[in-house]
Amino acid sequence: MTEPARLTQQTLLVANRGEIARRVLATAHRLGMATVAIYADPDADAPFVGEAAMSIRLGPADLSQSYLSVERLLQAASESGATAVHPGYGFLSENADFARAVIDAGLTWVGPHPEAIESMGLKTSARRLAHEAGVPIIPGFDRSQDPADLAAAADGIGYPVLVKAAAGGGGKGIRIVEDPADFMAKLNEARTEAERSFGNGDVIVERYITRPRHVEVQIVGDTHGSLIDLGTRECSVQRRYQKLLEEAPAPNLPDETRAGLRARARDLGSSIGYDSAGTVEFIVDDDTGEFFFLEMNTRLQVEHPVTEYVTGLDLVELQLRSAVGRPLSLDQDAVTIGGHAFEARVNAEDPAAGFTPQIGTVSHLEIPDGVRWDSAVIRGSVISPHYDPMVAKLIVGGSDRTTALAGLRRALDRLVIGGLTTNTGFHRWLVDRPELIEGRITTRFLDETEIPVDGDRDVETAAHRAAAIWRRDTRAGRDHGPWQSLPGFTLTPHRPHHHLFLAHHTGPVVEVAVPDTRGVTGGNLAPSVTGNNVAASVTAKSVAVNVNGATHTFTLIDRSDHWAPAGGGEGGSAGMVIAPFPAVVAEVTVAVGDEVNAGDVVVVIEAMKMLHSLPVAGPGTVAEIRVKPGDQVESNQVLVTFDTDGPGSDGPGTVEPDLA
Ligand code: ADP
Ligand code: ADP
Ligand code: MG
Repeated sequence: MTEPARLTQQTLLVANRGEIARRVLATAHRLGMATVAIYADPDADAPFVGEAAMSIRLGPADLSQSYLSVERLLQAASESGATAVHPGYGFLSENADFARAVIDAGLTWVGPHPEAIESMGLKTSARRLAHEAGVPIIPGFDRSQDPADLAAAADGIGYPVLVKAAAGGGGKGIRIVEDPADFMAKLNEARTEAERSFGNGDVIVERYITRPRHVEVQIVGDTHGSLIDLGTRECSVQRRYQKLLEEAPAPNLPDETRAGLRARARDLGSSIGYDSAGTVEFIVDDDTGEFFFLEMNTRLQVEHPVTEYVTGLDLVELQLRSAVGRPLSLDQDAVTIGGHAFEARVNAEDPAAGFTPQIGTVSHLEIPDGVRWDSAVIRGSVISPHYDPMVAKLIVGGSDRTTALAGLRRALDRLVIGGLTTNTGFHRWLVDRPELIEGRITTRFLDETEIPVDGDRDVETAAHRAAAIWRRDTRAGRDHGPWQSLPGFTLTPHRPHHHLFLAHHTGPVVEVAVPDTRGVTGGNLAPSVTGNNVAASVTAKSVAVNVNGATHTFTLIDRSDHWAPAGGGEGGSAGMVIAPFPAVVAEVTVAVGDEVNAGDVVVVIEAMKMLHSLPVAGPGTVAEIRVKPGDQVESNQVLVTFDTDGPGSDGPGTVEPDLA
């Protein structure tokens, strides 16, 4: 047997991006390894690139010219002098050809031997191997791709059935079929999606387990024939067959079920000589307690941190050690599972809009104490449309499940991730659900449960808190109204309130009246902001606040951008009223030729379901009305013009609007 290489003599290229690249780099650096990051153009400024000792550009955003290009990755390895390659998860991590190419280039592949990847890569062969290893499989059919055979098999299995892409991953190419009449249509959908995602349209048909829990077992093997398991994880909180919240260990499992799952996972791993970190996924039927093999992922898993919490092990270190031929540093008896941990995947997506992916810039970031935060981003990072929407993972552990869940709840109340919409509000809602508290969630939970959406009220609450925090925490907010110091702008004397215009990160503008006194003790402000209970982050021009777990980010609109300057042009006789923000005209209260005086309301506009009255500042005569009720108006759009009484007047359009 050859002497295992020393990790400190290796240069590790991480063939991935984002959160997992940073995660792998962190362990490599702790172990004294030299590191190389690779990146595509949209990631040039991403944190993972700067954190590696060296970085190499692969190419443009297009995956086939960057993160999925075996050729470019091998070139980068050779240019950088890398000696080992860690694939992370996703991308090429379960691609046996890539593993072989790395090995053929004389490099160390940080993953299982390619035959193991291959044998588990297709659900067809994986099912058969599991069956041979004595692992129960879901009643199903994987022997033909003929539509008539598949339909007949579905009849034999009994509806509902699940049609699943054989080459599947990430929940793609999966369709549930309840009614035999829909079988062919659903089969075609699954095939088309599988063909598009994996270049392979083959499917299997399985009995659909109606009360399924997703429970999986982490295993780790070495090249000397040893293999251990690191316990269970529950991943039943899913939408579109993708995991959102995971925990370790899986709750509410009878001892013999848990022991059975762990033993069968080891059996399967041992049967293929598994020699790295991997996960055997099972479905546990909540009705009967039976469990069945789902698939095996021959790589590190997104949710590995919860296992690290309860075992105290570093899974990337175990992978690296196995890859250089070292024997496992512990045997099964030395594995202890202690405490409990949750992981919430923080995705740039809008739960209120069907979890649609969001893009944006992380303008504020406040991470609570006492948590593990594995993330792709720092303040200023851009979430581009090119890659998947996961931006971070919030991992919180505790001595037991109740403590860990309370910790997660507290962390979600403290977290501020501003500038874009994420699913943290969804997670905050979830942690209070009795189904989660009691540990009885099935993978159907999110399909069967309405997720409450109270966006407008939360935005208003957030705006009031943001205004108060801005007044309290910024010098400009304490010393002045935001526009008092603007040249040429005069506040009406003795006006009791300032009006802040706060643009929410999703677009709407909210008008908030704040008292014209110092401090934030005014009666119309949310009193809670006077304490330290609000999680918020403030910069000179923007405030991000946590309301019910979701971060709402507001930018202060500088009114000089939105209101016409006083007076007019040549001769100083023209004035106007201009829309301060995008809105719909609700009412025009004057007619051409009307005489107006300071404070008279001339137009009422509606935005964010609130009415805003736009008054004039000085006397004049209505010259032109450019809008009518129902018109959509843009910021700065001229609504009404005036002939004023001559030079020296403040002119219309210079006073603050009143709240209607
Ligand atoms: P896990 O069980 O580790 O959560 P997932 O199936 O959620 O595994 O996938 C892990 C990561 O890999 C995710 O970022 C997911 O988006 C990505 N991924 C998995 N399979 C594919 C695929 N076939 N194509 C693109 N991305 C994938
Ligand atoms: P992928 O490779 O996309 O991760 P899996 O086979 O792991 O595909 O299935 C993804 C998810 O789909 C599982 O976590 C589970 O929620 C659901 N699922 C898969 N097979 C079944 C089944 N036969 N019955 C019920 N749910 C299933
Ligand atoms: Mg899976």
